[in-house]
Amino acid sequence: MEEDDRIAPRPDAGYDQRWRTFCGSRYKKTVLDSLLNGRRMVQVGSNGTALNDSMLRFLVERKLYYLSVSLDGMQEYHNRIRGMPMAFQRADIALKTLNALKRELRTPYPATCIKCVITDDNYDEIPMLLEYADKELNADHFSLSLESHSPFRHGFESANDLSDERLRRGSVICYPIDSIPGISAMLQKVLAYRRKSRIHVELAPAFNNTESFLQCMTNPAKFGVCNCRRPWTELTMLYDGEITSCLNYRIANVRELDYNVCMALKLPRHREFLTGFSAFHFHPACQGCCLGRHKKNIGAEAKEIA
Ligand code: SF4
Repeated sequence: MEEDDRIAPRPDAGYDQRWRTFCGSRYKKTVLDSLLNGRRMVQVGSNGTALNDSMLRFLVERKLYYLSVSLDGMQEYHNRIRGMPMAFQRADIALKTLNALKRELRTPYPATCIKCVITDDNYDEIPMLLEYADKELNADHFSLSLESHSPFRHGFESANDLSDERLRRGSVICYPIDSIPGISAMLQKVLAYRRKSRIHVELAPAFNNTESFLQCMTNPAKFGVCNCRRPWTELTMLYDGEITSCLNYRIANVRELDYNVCMALKLPRHREFLTGFSAFHFHPACQGCCLGRHKKNIGAEAKEIA
């Protein structure tokens, strides 16, 4: 049996409510089938290029909860950034096919989201992309994120040790100062569109106000996440079977757990990580994470991990 098929989650273990999967062509229907059988709120993230008719019908018939598709801009820009001449067109066809299937099967599921990361060279396309997502793709949700990179949160390396200094490093990406007026003007257009349209527009990460969102672009160290429950409810599995927390702290390899991902929740290393994480008041490695609510870092002198 292929390894992917053995990873199907067991219905009795840990993750009862929410699963996030990062799909792609090779994601096995058997794994999704198992997740959807458990009536979980399953979310699939995709670039949309590998969502063929059969997979789309499967997702609609099985009432997948949420499908997010990443688009970096309009057709020419998106295809150039992705290095694929038809990437935008394929995602476009997939989403339109999905909408037709939803109408045919009279279901609102999956809800759809277009995700876009703001960069210093795509921001003038974003209002057009939003309108396209709303009117042409009939998306339910448009999520606009900040670019960020924290060595301990992204990438393919995990750390073994809670004292790893990467846990204390924040985002290493700052937007060029001269791009901020243009990005600010773009955000005003997006917010004005949000006020009059049905599509739900979200800025990620969440801040208390748009001003903080803009300030974070040039000074990410000023902001961060004070607490976040996700390490208690989510695990990540990397391409090589390494299971980590959302911050790349290594819990185990799936092969050591006989392919039962949920066993990782019961391991002492997982508990140790949660205890260490709770001891932090402020998490530099979370800076810019689109899943965390950000605040000004008034307590920058974070408590050290015990
Ligand atoms: S903000 Fe939350 S989800 Fe994001 S890296 Fe930090 S703990 Fe994980």
